[in-house]
Amino acid sequence: MSKRKVLTFAGRALKNLFQKPATTSYPFEPAVYPERMRGHVEIHMEDCICCGLCMRSCPSQAIRVDRRAGTWTIRRFDCVQCSSCVNVCPKKCLTMEAGYTRPDTRKTDETFIKPAQPEEARAEAASVKAEEAEQKQQEKQKDCIPERI
Ligand code: SF4
Ligand code: SF4
Repeated sequence: MSKRKVLTFAGRALKNLFQKPATTSYPFEPAVYPERMRGHVEIHMEDCICCGLCMRSCPSQAIRVDRRAGTWTIRRFDCVQCSSCVNVCPKKCLTMEAGYTRPDTRKTDETFIKPAQPEEARAEAASVKAEEAEQKQQEKQKDCIPERI
């Protein structure tokens, strides 16, 4: 390297030492994400009916829905932010939110549990089921009785 080039480099290095950094924001200021950014999936578990449509539409199999246990699980590192699950959800309880998933050293699952139904709603559901069962039983009995001539 010629002497002149070294001097130019040294001058520039010295000048930079006393100037503000050229990169101004992150990590010193919080990142500002674009409005429609597909950062990560969020769920409003109160509205979820555990139908499993999101699970079936996910191309990377990042979602698992257990209807019996009332759980919705996502493996965020497998998600490719395609928004397919958000588009198919019949209850519109999934949304794409700005901001990336936090870094981690291993793939972990994040599970959301459906909140317990209030006692009244549970009792109502049980009574509806019992009524249905009784109706079915009566229909069966009707079918079994032979008609008398
Ligand atoms: S599609 Fe929506 S309602 Fe159905 S399991 Fe997924 S999040 Fe729940
Ligand atoms: S955004 Fe796409 S990849 Fe991510 S969980 Fe939803 S369907 Fe799967």
